[in-house]
Amino acid sequence: MKLSDLMTNPAPRYDVIIIGSGAGGSTAAHRLAHGGKRVLVVERGTWLKPAASSKPASNYIYDIQQQAKSNTGFVGGLTKFYGAAHYRFRESDFEEVVHESGISPAWPITYAELEPYYLMAEKLYRIHGTAEEDATEPPRSAPFPHPPIPYPPLMADLAKRLNAAGYPTAVIPRGLDYGAGGSCIMCTTCDAYVCPFDAKMDAETAALRPALATGNVTLLTETECLRVLTNEAGTQATGVVLQQAEVQHTLHAETIIVSAGIPESALLLRRSRNARHPAGLGNNGGALGRYLAGHSVGMVFLLTSFLSMKALHTKSFALNQYYHRAPDWPHPLGVIQSAGQVPFWRQASRIMRPLAYLIGKSSLMFFYMSEALPTREAGLVFDENNHVVETIQPAHNLQSFEKLRQLAVAAFGRIGYRSIARKRKPYLWHEVGTARMGNDPATSVVDARCRVHGIDNLYVADASVLPTAGAVNTVLTIFALALRVGDDILNRRSA
Ligand SMILES: Cc1cc2nc3c(=O)[nH]c(=O)nc-3n(C[C@H](O)[C@H](O)[C@H](O)COP(=O)(O)OP(=O)(O)OC[C@H]3O[C@@H](n4cnc5c(N)ncnc54)[C@H](O)[C@@H]3O)c2cc1C
Repeated sequence: MKLSDLMTNPAPRYDVIIIGSGAGGSTAAHRLAHGGKRVLVVERGTWLKPAASSKPASNYIYDIQQQAKSNTGFVGGLTKFYGAAHYRFRESDFEEVVHESGISPAWPITYAELEPYYLMAEKLYRIHGTAEEDATEPPRSAPFPHPPIPYPPLMADLAKRLNAAGYPTAVIPRGLDYGAGGSCIMCTTCDAYVCPFDAKMDAETAALRPALATGNVTLLTETECLRVLTNEAGTQATGVVLQQAEVQHTLHAETIIVSAGIPESALLLRRSRNARHPAGLGNNGGALGRYLAGHSVGMVFLLTSFLSMKALHTKSFALNQYYHRAPDWPHPLGVIQSAGQVPFWRQASRIMRPLAYLIGKSSLMFFYMSEALPTREAGLVFDENNHVVETIQPAHNLQSFEKLRQLAVAAFGRIGYRSIARKRKPYLWHEVGTARMGNDPATSVVDARCRVHGIDNLYVADASVLPTAGAVNTVLTIFALALRVGDDILNRRSA
């Protein structure tokens, strides 16, 4: 669809305009379209057309970004590359928790309030799992919509030995089109790749396509939202300024949802500043761009034989027993999770690449992941042209992180595996925050319903609103919050 096609007089009017077609945007679009709303989804990126399955490696995120030269985004957002690990946050993740290096603050909503939306998200994204193996699983109003996916033999053997040695394993809940009639073949090119079979339930396949099929949704690709406009009083969002190639156009809607991800949602709200909101929309308390949080991540490589790895789909189980504490450690630690076969060596320097390749090809990769805490200082530093010039890291719980590394090495050692787990600075993954949810406009950007403080028809629905990241994968919580935003809009209008 061309932006110029919408430059009619009068311009088309939408019930809702959504900026971004990733995890938050497409999921909200699905809910609203099925509720009968006329929705425009604006995506700055293009459709990803995966290469034929004969060349799956060319669908790897790093290669695609290199090809695109700049990271301009894709229809479906980062979920096109995700590992489809779908966890509910634990009940305590919504409450204040004391960590080694500070406090993980309470959310303005409880787990119980989000539970119905978790279930809705699990159905939409076809999640396979079971709550029976995992003592940290929160209470559920219904079982997982699909049974757990069986482990391949190598992983099944590993899990059996870990269980016998006193390390309870738990299946990773996955969103895949798996089972009778399903298109998932459990191949190795899943996590960090685009699925050439559409078997991965990402935001495009599971949410946006069915939303488009209702006929209620218009999608503009390769179109960037430059600004969100408000009325003179600054109390209502009135429209958005869009740019496609050289064409600029303003469109109006009753409600706007910003789902541009991190850091783009914060940047967009900042670029949209006006006389009533001189520091950016929702930024009267200076919280925009701040309170970045996420996961501190490290890697453990279990040395196996080159042959045993072969074509295994290795993202299968996790050790979650140290989520809240360990026997000799009073603070939350996190999870140890099997990873997909990610060809991380392609990102290694030329000198390190042969060694990284050797390790990658003859080992099973696990992540260990703990919570990195939001602080007022953590987040995006902008220059006067609204570019992000620096990202200040959240507070990593470094001792807990190191303890988790040692526990992972010990667990695998107990069952006879030698592992490589370099002691190093954590990677920051699964970032959240920068437009966080809260009751106090001095320390948050959106309220408990994800509406920008002071502008009640402007919502944010993406990773930026999560106040904390817990220590499990965040995307199911993004989906659940986006569905809740959709319901909030449907209920308001019908009321
Ligand atoms: C390799 C990889 C594996 C992952 N695996 C997992 C996993 O297994 N489990 C999990 O929980 N999480 C995983 N994640 C993280 C997860 O994908 C992200 O947390 C999630 O996609 C964030 O959702 P979002 O809606 O905030 O942003 P996104 O999904 O990134 O969507 C934002 C969209 O907005 C568009 N956009 C930005 N600015 C504008 C603008 N101005 N105008 C128009 N459009 C705009 C972007 O192009 C993009 O499409 C993974 C991530 C990666 C990279």
